[in-house]
Amino acid sequence: MSNQLNGIAASNGVAIAKAYMLVDPDLSFDKKVIENEDHEVQRLHDSFATSKDELEVIKQHAVKSLGEEEAAVFEAHITILADPELISGIEKKINEEHVNAESALKEVTDSYIAMFEAMTDNTYMQERAGDVRDVTKRVLSHLLGVKLPSPALINTQSIVVAHDLTPSDTAQLDRQFVQGFITDIGGRTSHSAIMSRTLEIPAVVGTENATTTINDGDTVIVDGIHGKAIVNPSDEEIDQYQQMAAQFEREQAEWGELKDSSTKSADGKHFDIAANIGTPDDLAAVLDNGGEAVGLFRSEFLYMNSAELPTEDEQFEAYKKVIAGMGDKQVVIRTMDIGGDKHLPYLPLPEEMNPFLGYRAIRISLDRQEIFRTQLRALLRASNYGKLAIMFPMIATVNEFKQARAIYDEEKQKMVNAGQRVADNIQVGMMMEIPAAVMIADKLAKYADFFSIGTNDLIQYTFAADRGNEHVSYLYQPYNPSLLRLIKRVIDTAHQEGKWAGMCGEMAGDQVAVPLLMGMGLDEFSMSATSMLQTRSLMKKLDTTRLQKLVDQALDAESNEEVIELVKQLDIK
Ligand code: PEP
Ligand code: MG
Repeated sequence: MSNQLNGIAASNGVAIAKAYMLVDPDLSFDKKVIENEDHEVQRLHDSFATSKDELEVIKQHAVKSLGEEEAAVFEAHITILADPELISGIEKKINEEHVNAESALKEVTDSYIAMFEAMTDNTYMQERAGDVRDVTKRVLSHLLGVKLPSPALINTQSIVVAHDLTPSDTAQLDRQFVQGFITDIGGRTSHSAIMSRTLEIPAVVGTENATTTINDGDTVIVDGIHGKAIVNPSDEEIDQYQQMAAQFEREQAEWGELKDSSTKSADGKHFDIAANIGTPDDLAAVLDNGGEAVGLFRSEFLYMNSAELPTEDEQFEAYKKVIAGMGDKQVVIRTMDIGGDKHLPYLPLPEEMNPFLGYRAIRISLDRQEIFRTQLRALLRASNYGKLAIMFPMIATVNEFKQARAIYDEEKQKMVNAGQRVADNIQVGMMMEIPAAVMIADKLAKYADFFSIGTNDLIQYTFAADRGNEHVSYLYQPYNPSLLRLIKRVIDTAHQEGKWAGMCGEMAGDQVAVPLLMGMGLDEFSMSATSMLQTRSLMKKLDTTRLQKLVDQALDAESNEEVIELVKQLDIK
């Protein structure tokens, strides 16, 4: 009998394959007195050797998908495995205390970890504690004969099932083998979901119990269109979903024909369709899908994919690649948005009760100005290679924007004074993602060159519902008049002040929201590259003069559902 799991549709498409459980196994064991020491020592050596082989594979993979620097951590793990002092310490324990290899290993590595952690004046050595912990886990898994899964070890067609996926897990997934993924937690705008859309992997998130319901090797269907997963499907179900996958492919081919056309409504009004990207590698998909701009480059991924703060030169190269790659099309780069659910191992943040309401984004940049100024200088240097716009995340007050802009102006002036070239057409704008900022959009528009509405956060802050918490995902209500009124306010205010308004939250590529946003006169729609052509196709079919009435009715509705019904009644050919 098949079993159906309901979750949140995170990335379009249908996939059918065997489940690969990316779940930490149970590594508990009993301490035992043994009689055959040689046998235990041999088991230890075998486990070290297998661990080393495995780490070589993971390292090679990480070099390819994440780069040399990020892969260095696996090299460090291999070095630990080769440490003669560590091995002889464990052997000694086995021989002298007659204990099993598992407990000898754990006791010796625990003492290493305690020693490293005590070196409070040496952060480098302190961080080695984590490496020893990871290596111990791997060797232990081989001693116990249980699988320690790693995204890099997947080499057959699979559906990855995990509690959650970190950005580095996602980066290591090989698109050739990973057909889809299912997670227990997360919402449509959690970062694992956003990454799945960038990678074009069908995904269902927030199922709550995928990891406890699905077993390794089960056949699974991921229905990323409706947010469902079918475990051990019947032949009829497989048949039905294969047809759905084929239909989806046909639609994609139809959208593909619009790649080189500009985005126009049925009555000839132009809109910009832009892409959201996380790294320069995403640029190919933007161009392949006919992007007219980059509306959001989440620069924090550059920081997250690095072992330490990226230098000005490293950042400059990355920004230049994107800006030059887009030619005369605009690239909006957002300054670092760390905090919330995005962390840097090398930049410890304070423990917070509510990280999404805490030390995040521009709040960190204004506090840790040396980091901010380095980023601004890299951006200013890269501005010479195309059409750059810069935006600040999480602006809540006029004062924050003025402070950020003043720092930008100062860095720019310093460079000009030093004879460095800087483009003279850089726009400086802000994300609109905090209700307080929306309410004073008229004041902010005096200082900002543009607004980009970040609905992922604007929705969570408006409804007071954590964007990554599946228990409150019913409050992700993009069409609720409360939110639509905020959006309308931002667009109208920007236009009154002669500024443009875009949207880079996931709502911009949402097919139900698009008619509403067109009717409100949103100028730029920035979304996952994979949603761009579908949206262009929809826009072509809509007449904006007729959407005015829809907007009026929607703003006057009572609920999210009522607005969905209104949009459904549109006659879209
Ligand atoms: C948003 O909040 O809508 C947004 C685009 O930014 P992020 O998802 O990176 O927080
Ligand atoms: Mg945001």
